[in-house]
Amino acid sequence: MSREQLAVQQARKVFLTGRSKPLQYRIQQLKNLSRFITEREKDITDALRKDLYKSENSTQLYEILGLVGEINLAVSKLAEWAAPRPVSKNLLTISDEVFIHPEPLGVVLIIGAWNYPIAVTLQPLVGAIAAGNAAITKPSEVSSHTAEVMELLRHYLDPEMYPVVTGGVPETQELLKQRFDHIFYTGNSTVGKLVMEAAARHLTPVTLELGGKSPCYIDKNCDIRIACRRITWGKYVNCGQTCIAPDYILCEPSIQDKVIDEIQKCIKEFYTNDPKSFADYGRIINQRHFKRLIALIEDSTVAIGGDSDEAECYIAPTVLKDVTSQSKVMQEEIFGPILPIVTINGIKEAIQFINEREKPLALYVFSSSNKVIKQMISDTSSGALLANDCLVHYTISDLPFGGVGNSGTGRYHGKYSFDQLSHLRSCLIKKLNMEMVNQMRYPPHTAEKLRWARVFLLKQINLSKWRQMAQVAMVAALAAFVVQRFLR
Ligand code: NAD
Repeated sequence: MSREQLAVQQARKVFLTGRSKPLQYRIQQLKNLSRFITEREKDITDALRKDLYKSENSTQLYEILGLVGEINLAVSKLAEWAAPRPVSKNLLTISDEVFIHPEPLGVVLIIGAWNYPIAVTLQPLVGAIAAGNAAITKPSEVSSHTAEVMELLRHYLDPEMYPVVTGGVPETQELLKQRFDHIFYTGNSTVGKLVMEAAARHLTPVTLELGGKSPCYIDKNCDIRIACRRITWGKYVNCGQTCIAPDYILCEPSIQDKVIDEIQKCIKEFYTNDPKSFADYGRIINQRHFKRLIALIEDSTVAIGGDSDEAECYIAPTVLKDVTSQSKVMQEEIFGPILPIVTINGIKEAIQFINEREKPLALYVFSSSNKVIKQMISDTSSGALLANDCLVHYTISDLPFGGVGNSGTGRYHGKYSFDQLSHLRSCLIKKLNMEMVNQMRYPPHTAEKLRWARVFLLKQINLSKWRQMAQVAMVAALAAFVVQRFLR
């Protein structure tokens, strides 16, 4: 039996004992995860420096703080999330208990990506633990140092319930042959399709957190200086290797030079004149991605940057101007520090450009006009829309994070993670009295019974507290009437 098969079997076995169901157990595991982050902070920081040249503070900012926030939120809200959720009733069920009971799905497979390897791998795990599942975590082999650190989780979490399985494509494929109750995958759309195919063999539901080209429209009616500061930050953080980074800019030709000028000033301010020797500017994950990125620049005009060093996987913060939709850089998600500017004439053309392509994970619009922002919301579709800033919607745990169409399926963060990895079971508890009310459903199905069924099933009721008593009385009267009529 393979290591992967063994891990899944073991996790299922312990899940079936019911060990992960009590909330106390889940809270303890979440606290252990928190302890892993605190005690292994140095290992995590060192690994991310080696994998992506992340600075200590940016690791804290972009990998750790959000994760700790998610754990704390889950610990404090778990009792509320896991409690039965009463729902409104219809006239037929007015005296019954009707509620949603969240229950664990079973064994979850979490497949992580390499760009924010701690955040995108462990945040789904928070949801899996909170929801009471067992979970197999498969960190990305591409960020190999971080994957090694994640193996240390076995000293913190229940190792039978939450094993970490490291490895590359063959190991992931072996895992995908196994039967899971949910697969949570973060990565590119091509592999996303393979994951979905594998899941379909067992009818396993999936969450796919994918990427794509997130457009950024700059309206000429906006503070271009501020817009460019926020865009420069959103684009070049982690060297552009952010799933929700603005992929390209859409703006009118009349403001293109101003945009380039402002971005240039921000690059200098944020990363100095020499980003290569600046400690807070990252590196491309590996040579394969480096070569891919360099090839994307080939047929475009470089307005800023463009210099690189293959040995160090360094690519300077780069802006390309007058890019067309046929340019190489517009054919795939960039996922690197290259920012093309495509000129269009106004919001209508921008919307058309966006709608002719796959639905993005994020859509950014910079404008002082509320009308323009609202138009962008109503006339396009994307995983998220953010006006006048970049990336920060990721930090709001009350907003579902996820894509639509080609940018993904499913959502997480905060309570959404809990719900995504739970089965929301419908429960109805009736008593064995009031049998007379049921006469209308038993054969023979007369026209009169049908009329009564219409009243009972189609009548909209509002069970706010002060009306509840009156409605119960009304139903009782109705029931009595029905009984009389039917028993006559
Ligand atoms: P990656 O290469 O690390 O792959 C992701 C995972 O898929 C890894 O664990 C890897 O082992 C596995 N994998 C790769 N090839 C496979 C195959 N043939 N069969 C089975 N498993 C395989 O990461 P990546 O895909 O390069 O990540 C970058 C992409 O992820 C970008 O498109 C980015 O936008 C997206 N992303 C999305 C989010 C999000 O939250 N939506 C977050 C981060 C990254």
